[in-house]
Amino acid sequence: MTDRIFAAGTAYLDYNATAPLRPEAFEAVVAAMGSVGNASSAHGPGRGAGRRVDAARRHLANLLNCSPGELVFTSGATEANNLALRAAFASRTTLVTSPLEHPAVLEVAKELTAAAPSELKLLPVDEDGVVDLDALERSLATATVSLVSLMAANNETGVLTDLAPVVKLAHEAGALVHTDATQLVGRLPLDLTDVDVDLLSLSAHKFGGPQGIGALFMRRGSDLPYRPLIFGGGQERGWRAGTLNVPGIAGAGAAAEAAGRMLDEEGARIARLRDELERMLVEELSDCRINGALTDRLPGVSSVTFRGATADAVLASMPEVAASEGSACSSGAPGPSHVLLAMGRSREEADCTVRFSLGFATTADDVKRAVAATVRAVRKVRATMSIDLTPPRPSAVRRPDPITERTS
Ligand code: PMP
Repeated sequence: MTDRIFAAGTAYLDYNATAPLRPEAFEAVVAAMGSVGNASSAHGPGRGAGRRVDAARRHLANLLNCSPGELVFTSGATEANNLALRAAFASRTTLVTSPLEHPAVLEVAKELTAAAPSELKLLPVDEDGVVDLDALERSLATATVSLVSLMAANNETGVLTDLAPVVKLAHEAGALVHTDATQLVGRLPLDLTDVDVDLLSLSAHKFGGPQGIGALFMRRGSDLPYRPLIFGGGQERGWRAGTLNVPGIAGAGAAAEAAGRMLDEEGARIARLRDELERMLVEELSDCRINGALTDRLPGVSSVTFRGATADAVLASMPEVAASEGSACSSGAPGPSHVLLAMGRSREEADCTVRFSLGFATTADDVKRAVAATVRAVRKVRATMSIDLTPPRPSAVRRPDPITERTS
């Protein structure tokens, strides 16, 4: 399986950009592609496709401990976020979110409040990438908030949001809660009977399913006006029209089932590998800095700043390692990571940050090879770049507005 996925010799440490397809998902996609049938058709082949969709919906619902009928399949988390925010935000109220969110939330929030930008409130965050919940409480007390949207885990640092107090505060104030859980689902346990969010976005390709398929959880009983993004044949209870992507859905379901079965075991193993990666990096390059709240992170993510060596140069010097500078989703766009800038890092620090993300197929050997290559690359780049290594003056640390300064 791994031979099919990876170029020989590559240490693939970019699971937050996309994870390899799990073998179970591969089999499910191939089986669905090999059979005919529209899941909405009443004849035998159609019912066969419908059964694949039903099974996948059950697997996803099991992973999240929700009801299958609370899931709407979408083309991924970008669409799920768009649908969630559009459905739940009421104009002439306030939408509360944070500057750490993925552009698939920030850009939608900006668009929805374009006519009245004061309706968008970005909560302050600290240098560990943790959102200030006192500020959330103050916002809820001083404005009419219809929606709070905070990500469950950050894609660049892996830092987790403690959703229970967010939900409590928001619900007491009559606001709905959406969470972009794209990076958390399938990597850490999540029980939607404990975490009482109204809306949750996920994407299959982050946990070993195919790309281009995701879902929005919409809690039954949450008071949502009917505002779909795509109208048509009424599939997905009218929330997302269009012929269902049966191979994608089948693959997502198989990946959810496999991820759920191995969640605890995989999480512990991956966290050990990530800790080992960081320990070896710090041992060799004592001046590197690991970003984010170290104890409240996803198991597989490590955001590391190598001052004096820009991430693009480091990555270009180690083609045998697939990692990412900042977030792969915005890496096509110029400019440093809006997440690291919001955490108070300087532009130079943000430019010198590499994100390693590990997952279910990562081996100790991948980690060892990646560390060796990174240490060599950082030393080489530092030797050839004439970057001033004196610490920046505090006044040089500028916090850009991620809303007015586009990241993708
Ligand atoms: N939200 C987060 C936190 C993400 O990391 C990503 C993907 N990088 C997305 C949303 C978008 O997901 P998709 O690729 O499924 O559109």
